[in-house]
Amino acid sequence: MTVIEKSLILAAMLLLTAPVSVSTTEKSTSASKSAESPTNVKAPFRLTAVVLDAGHGGRDPGNVGPGRKKEKDINLAITHKLAALIRKKTAYEVHLTRSTDRWISLTERARIANELPPRQTLFISIHCNSHPDSRVHGLESYIFNLQATDKFAADLAKWENDEEVVSPVDFIINNLHKRGVDKYSWEAARIVQSVLVSQLGTRNRNRIAPDRMVRQAPFRVLVDTRMPALLVELGYLTNKAEYNKLSSARYQDKVANALLEAIQQFDQATQEVDKRIEARLP
Ligand SMILES: [Zn+2]
Repeated sequence: MTVIEKSLILAAMLLLTAPVSVSTTEKSTSASKSAESPTNVKAPFRLTAVVLDAGHGGRDPGNVGPGRKKEKDINLAITHKLAALIRKKTAYEVHLTRSTDRWISLTERARIANELPPRQTLFISIHCNSHPDSRVHGLESYIFNLQATDKFAADLAKWENDEEVVSPVDFIINNLHKRGVDKYSWEAARIVQSVLVSQLGTRNRNRIAPDRMVRQAPFRVLVDTRMPALLVELGYLTNKAEYNKLSSARYQDKVANALLEAIQQFDQATQEVDKRIEARLP
């Protein structure tokens, strides 16, 4: 990160934390303005809608494994299975950023999500990973941060971002909209990682993260979304055993069931006192 980028981020942080001084005439309107604001940090988060984002699509295959199935196909199959489960078993609305094999930009995916109320919606981007070493396997969950947890996370975000980079200015502007939902992103990713690792019996590749559960990286699709948002890498298509599992309908059903369980646990957690969520943040 350059010195200019660091200064811009510092300026944004000051903006976010500084008390707002207003003149007497402005004071009379400031209260009603803040109550209407979508960034009102006081409003409780109550889950009513889930946006499922199947990574890649169309001309962008994503990662490719040893067999015929590509990442874009596996992501979409799991997304459809999860959407069907949510509709059958819960009262949440489900929205898909893509429901067919078509290309869609990362900013468009976020735009679709942002039509929903940020304090009632959870955004989950579904992906599968790859690695030059075919022995590497396991599961990772990410939330957005301009500064990646580690070099691997930074490289992964660069690859998933394709040509759509995240500038510090995007980060600052979008962070203003995200005020108050960050802790929910963290909680959602923590629950997704923990439920999926235990239910799927897969390797937790987030052990190097501060809380051993949630990694951070500058994913383009996560910077623009104004609601709690996470990206999950379900496994490595370059690992033959994991490719075979992720390509099978049976394992895809298991993943969808585990994700549903995670969404429901997240909903319950947000209904608890917010302080309990804060207490778990590293
Ligand atoms: Zn991907």
